[in-house]
Amino acid sequence: MTCFGAHPIVAVRLFEGCLKEPSCVNTAAEIEVDERWMRQALAAASEAQARGEVPIGTCIVSEDKLIALAGNRTRTDCDPTAHAEIVALREAAGKLGNYRLTEVDVYSTIEPCAMCAGALIQARVRRLIYGAADERAGGVISRFRICDTDFLNHRIEVQSGVLEEECRTLMQEFFKTRRGRIVD
Ligand code: ZN
Repeated sequence: MTCFGAHPIVAVRLFEGCLKEPSCVNTAAEIEVDERWMRQALAAASEAQARGEVPIGTCIVSEDKLIALAGNRTRTDCDPTAHAEIVALREAAGKLGNYRLTEVDVYSTIEPCAMCAGALIQARVRRLIYGAADERAGGVISRFRICDTDFLNHRIEVQSGVLEEECRTLMQEFFKTRRGRIVD
């Protein structure tokens, strides 16, 4: 139940019940910027994988500057809330000295879960950009629609499908390898 069109970049959902008008579709320059930052998130996902974590990475950007970069740390920190998005949001808020992150864009390799989508709302982030959908537990479109709230005077612009194949492949390869090792 993803909303990706034929072109992975086209679906821009503003969570006001409609997709952006075709005339507002991202320009080549905007796509280039999104892909550049998503590569940073992918690098953090690979780094997390090297630590035995599920390979999900997040980077937070403000005015085209990197504010925070994190991979999953749930096992590393023995912390069930240490998803890449939460770790990066904490780092960004600390660095900017503000718990509201209204000027930042959050890049995540995978659609955030319900917890992380809730945190993005709490932080009032401007824009969420993710790679591949999480059809099992995605909190933005696939399973829940946490960012689609009407009780908060805040809208997060959501962009899906940026470097989708690379983000999905990293996850698929990880779970394929792990399944091979697990004896039930
Ligand atoms: Zn999460």
